[in-house]
Amino acid sequence: MLLSVIHIHQKHILRFSAGVWNLNRKMATCSETKTPIVVREVTTPLGVCTLKACDKGVHHLALTKIDENFDPNVSAGNVKEIPKKALEAEEGSTPMNKAVNWLVSYFENPSNLSGKIPPVCFPTDSSTEFERKVWTALGEKVGFGKTVTYSQLAGTAIDNPKASRAVGTAMKKNPIPLMIPCHRVIRADGEIGNYSMGGSTIKKWLLEHENTGA
Ligand SMILES: [Zn+2]
Repeated sequence: MLLSVIHIHQKHILRFSAGVWNLNRKMATCSETKTPIVVREVTTPLGVCTLKACDKGVHHLALTKIDENFDPNVSAGNVKEIPKKALEAEEGSTPMNKAVNWLVSYFENPSNLSGKIPPVCFPTDSSTEFERKVWTALGEKVGFGKTVTYSQLAGTAIDNPKASRAVGTAMKKNPIPLMIPCHRVIRADGEIGNYSMGGSTIKKWLLEHENTGA
């Protein structure tokens, strides 16, 4: 709670620390928990990721600025050679700190990932029960380096493998890509399919990163 008080008093201050930005200009509140939503920007090998989280869990992750040095046509192994600008662990156990640490491990040292994603929060006023079931099943059951087809995920999440089209739509609305790993959902014919966070080249890069980094 102390942190929340500090945020309120520093509303207009943009703090920079080792590539993790605290953007406190606009304080939003979670409709579910009524706690403030904090915002951070984390520099990753792909570019700048924006994270939002309330006291309960992560709400949102987006690649808001693709790194100008990132060439998705270069293999994942080579991209890792680009100087790392700012991946540093955060102390503390708030959902936001856990999310930052998870991102650091995801790109830098995937063997440190526990298999568990950080706590998440899907407010009921901005998602359907079906979407929450699909996102939860994907986040809990399809770990690093694994893939699943749309139909398999439909079977796992709601016991209806025929709902693959609806699963595809839920993937497009996924508020927390990477953590809810929609990039691991591929088509039954082996094609990798669409990816809303930066297109299929980034999806391919992520799958390659997971194959080489596990
Ligand atoms: Zn929340």
